[in-house]
Amino acid sequence: MDQGGTLADLRDVGAYLQGHFLLTTGRHSDTFFLLARLAERPDRLRRWISLLHEQMADIHASAIVGPAVGGIIPAYQLAALRPPCRALFTEKGDGDTMVFRRGFRLDPGESVIIVEDAMTTGSSIQKAIDAVGAYGASVAAIGTLVNRSTSNKTPWSVPFYSVLTVKGIQNWPPEDCPLCHKGEPLTKPKQ
Ligand SMILES: [Zn+2]
Repeated sequence: MDQGGTLADLRDVGAYLQGHFLLTTGRHSDTFFLLARLAERPDRLRRWISLLHEQMADIHASAIVGPAVGGIIPAYQLAALRPPCRALFTEKGDGDTMVFRRGFRLDPGESVIIVEDAMTTGSSIQKAIDAVGAYGASVAAIGTLVNRSTSNKTPWSVPFYSVLTVKGIQNWPPEDCPLCHKGEPLTKPKQ
């Protein structure tokens, strides 16, 4: 049985797709991650979270914060392995921000871990960092299940952990897309 942390595991649950995809940025790619399909299977997701938990076991934190939507379930599962850690999530605020709603609060000086399902540009992680900072709390580390960033280093100074790093995923502006040139139908996997 796959213990998690592999592309084969993601492919098996429909979380790793190959085809011709429209990204939210407007660019096209031949690869798409739908990590919700992994979260759909708590038994499978738990193995990934256990691997992340082992990597981050030495990080001190009293709360795990996940940016909605993709970070909510992973943050909850990681917090469950670190009692009495709390599990919170950020969601869309005014403009292009993320905020804590629903009565969620952090204490000044509190140390938190941010968890996201997949890291691409890191923009949702950055918005969660900003939301944490608004309470005077600090981010001790960041964890992701899949790092598909095209950059070799993260923009943050805190430790960054990822269960699976996938390199070499290409994307193109529509006019340069080789799949468009071949006439392959474009799909939006999240719809
Ligand atoms: Zn295309």
